[in-house]
Amino acid sequence: GTNLMQGKRGLIMGLANDKSIAWGIAKACADAGAELAFSFQGEALKKRVEPLAQSVGSDIVLPCDVGDEASIDSLFAALEERWGKLDFIVHAIGFSDKSELRGRYVDTSRNNFLMSMDISVYSFTAVVQRAEKMMTEGGSCLTLTYYGAEKVMPHYNVMGVAKAALEASVRYLAEDLGKDNIRVNAISAGTIKTLAASGIGDFRLIMKWNEYNSPLRRTVTQEEVGKSALYLLSDLGSAVTGEVLHVDAGYHVVGMKAVDAPDI
Ligand code: NAD
Repeated sequence: GTNLMQGKRGLIMGLANDKSIAWGIAKACADAGAELAFSFQGEALKKRVEPLAQSVGSDIVLPCDVGDEASIDSLFAALEERWGKLDFIVHAIGFSDKSELRGRYVDTSRNNFLMSMDISVYSFTAVVQRAEKMMTEGGSCLTLTYYGAEKVMPHYNVMGVAKAALEASVRYLAEDLGKDNIRVNAISAGTIKTLAASGIGDFRLIMKWNEYNSPLRRTVTQEEVGKSALYLLSDLGSAVTGEVLHVDAGYHVVGMKAVDAPDI
């Protein structure tokens, strides 16, 4: 590793297991010398997250359901007591009712629309709001988004609408916090097989389509998202804020691939 994150303390939110994008980012940060804290949702995940945290030298593993203001407050109160200051946060959290991540967007229910926006969009703002107070020497905040925010992707539905709002919130947060040298960015990750992704209809097919149609002709790994996150979270990204960085093997630049079709 490098010393890029030496002396920096960061909170990683959204670790479920070793397939999580949060884990790729956590490893990259730890490798570069960062000191980490982790939050997890629900007691069931605690026993998965604790050993992972330990393996990167962290004994700060705290519960937080981002749908609950009191739960976010107690997370930050505990961090404040333990650390005082904070240098970075990673928000790798999204949620929608699985039954609406297939079929048509037009059939989205009001309840699931509001819940998806709450957990996948507002929670980032809620967390940044608390983190700001602890980022007394500047800081870097990162969230995860997807191409379905920009273009229609099959089955992504309400999550596409939520990610569009999340990306807009990144820009507004960047402007609000820029004067305190707190940067706010998003990574738009290519498709990766994780727990959350397995809830999306035809995900295997979407992975294959990305593999065939991206300029690099492959999908991306958690480790690769981790490396790009390191750039945004460290001093390497010191002039970058309000940005949505695509880490997707170039998929988003392709309108159409050349095909060998002499009859057309
Ligand atoms: P994951 O299942 O490993 O992580 C999702 C996390 O969200 C879990 O840890 C879960 O506990 C957490 N979460 C859900 N509801 C929560 C709540 N109320 N409170 C606290 N935590 C909650 O899957 P992942 O793919 O690593 O997802 C991380 C982020 O990356 C998500 O925002 C997702 O939309 C985004 N993303 C994923 C892909 C992909 O292909 N996997 C691509 C682009 C963006």
